[in-house]
Amino acid sequence: MRLYMSAYQGLLKGKPGEKMFLLGNEAIARGAIEAGVAVATTYPGTPSSEVGDILYEIGAEAGLKFEFSVNEKVAMESAFAASLAGLKSFVFMKHVGLNVASDVLMSISYTGVRGPMVIMTADDPSMFSSQNEQDNRHYAHFAHVPLIEPSNPQEAKDFLKTAFRISELESLPVIFRTTTRISHMRGNVVLSAVERPELNGKFPKDGRSFVALPSNSYRFKDELLSKMKRIEGMDFNKALNRSEGDRLSRVGFISSGEAYNVLRDVLDKHQLDVEVLKLGITNPLPEGIVREFLSRHGNVVVVEEVDPIIESDVRALADLKFPEVAVHGKMDGAIPMSYETSPDTLEDSLALILGFEVKHRQIYSPKEELPIRPPVLCAGCPHRATYFAVKRAVRMLKLDDPIYSSDIGCYSLGNYEPFNEADIMLEMGSSVGVGSGFTKATGQRVISFIGDSTFFHSGIPALINAVNNNSRMLVVIMDNDVTAMTGRQPNPGTPVSLTTGRSRNLSIENIVRSLGIESVRTVDPYNLKETLGAIMDGLKGDGVSVVIAKRECAILRDNRMKREGHEVKYHVIPEKCSSCFNCVENFACPALSVSDGKVTIDPILCDGCGVCSQPYVCPFRAIEVDSNEN
Ligand code: SF4
Ligand code: SF4
Repeated sequence: MRLYMSAYQGLLKGKPGEKMFLLGNEAIARGAIEAGVAVATTYPGTPSSEVGDILYEIGAEAGLKFEFSVNEKVAMESAFAASLAGLKSFVFMKHVGLNVASDVLMSISYTGVRGPMVIMTADDPSMFSSQNEQDNRHYAHFAHVPLIEPSNPQEAKDFLKTAFRISELESLPVIFRTTTRISHMRGNVVLSAVERPELNGKFPKDGRSFVALPSNSYRFKDELLSKMKRIEGMDFNKALNRSEGDRLSRVGFISSGEAYNVLRDVLDKHQLDVEVLKLGITNPLPEGIVREFLSRHGNVVVVEEVDPIIESDVRALADLKFPEVAVHGKMDGAIPMSYETSPDTLEDSLALILGFEVKHRQIYSPKEELPIRPPVLCAGCPHRATYFAVKRAVRMLKLDDPIYSSDIGCYSLGNYEPFNEADIMLEMGSSVGVGSGFTKATGQRVISFIGDSTFFHSGIPALINAVNNNSRMLVVIMDNDVTAMTGRQPNPGTPVSLTTGRSRNLSIENIVRSLGIESVRTVDPYNLKETLGAIMDGLKGDGVSVVIAKRECAILRDNRMKREGHEVKYHVIPEKCSSCFNCVENFACPALSVSDGKVTIDPILCDGCGVCSQPYVCPFRAIEVDSNEN
């Protein structure tokens, strides 16, 4: 059985010349297949996740080898190895994933690659599903590697192939940057022919060194800069960069990526025929093209997301060669510094620069204030039961002010009411490292929460550190079998039955025990009594204690129950309900609500987990199962 139902077969079957209406990430996956990628690797992360889902599903049929790696660093190392064996490799991740992989990037830009290698970063301006909106185009400058920025699904597919070509020509990894809007927009895409991947890689001992020792790296650095200089003069610059509109306009615009789409909308809305230089490769800046552009305009506005990266390059060039040209953008405050480019804010900015009047669209505003709908854990989510048990244990042990150190995953939602069990949350794997740090700095009890995938990703070294430093803390590993938040992708602990082509899975409990931790309990969070007992014991410990709350993701369970023909629902018996509201206030399953002073359960939402029927949640035993099933 696979985790995904195949919805992607059409991507493989599309013929050259055929038009398909594709999501940006679908176009990227098709681009990888058309390019003849032999090895693709990733750690899932929104907004890049669909690319991995697609290649996991249809990669083998396309003839490529695909890997969900344990983290982004390993994914990049794995793709690099394939490149050294002469194969075409593709590694992709969300923007913060590149922080994890940056150690590799900074060295492989120096050593160079052998087979073509493209690194996709999917950035998240405005932070729709991320902890920051870092602009990963900085990495291209930082590492001195080429940077490609598509603006729509067609370009995403076609530019990806060009990125491989550039990589091949100069033996350099190339960064391919999308943003949430590009990855998740839909558009018509004309397909091209598929290149069957070459899979017989071999690492040749041909005297070329990939050993990043100082003596070699010293030499690599100059070679790297020469490669970038050559790329700037290459022919494909004409295909990736284009100028449109009136070349004699008083003001000219330079833009890239999604910011270009917004700029185009605003210019079209106001029927402004001005020259726009749309850049598809922004590192190295195509200096010749930009220089020509600057020579035609007295005022130039740069529109980009997120940081003023093109703008600072254009300003430097203008200062050197065209001091009379006024450059506007984020650096002079003409355009806001933060968040994605919205049509309204860009319209306001351009109105000031170009001197036109703005009439914003009327946005529908409801007469009544809509209720706030904070993100919630799903009905039946095992994490809710774990958070409930932890809170109860803390209360029963009369612990004053425990520190809750949380991590990246669905369980980050423990931050919200009624649990409030996230005081700190930074990046993947940080809950254990930060938690251990607190044990050195305070006498407060520390409880770290981490998911199974995050544990494998980067929690293990932090746990070793905690053991090595004899930190007194409880680590709760919330193991729901999959990388749930990004779409339930498999991780090293995922049961074999839920994966494609895997023959074994790793036991988190065995790993934890192998570190010398003695206080280890694996519990079923649906069993509140057992979970509460284990957490209380763990909180009484002197060193590192670990509780593994193991229960499959509620969505997986739901799918499984349906397949097996089970339907379990719970209901409230009104005569037994005392209206104490412990269930809604302290457990807060979204299937529970209050109507006419009594609690009811929505049978559509109820997942049948039965946790609310346990006396810790409903002390009056007013919640019972509908069916005869246990
Ligand atoms: S059994 Fe109770 S806790 Fe579980 S999903 Fe249904 S209402 Fe929610
Ligand atoms: S906890 Fe039980 S008794 Fe109290 S309101 Fe909920 S269903 Fe009624």
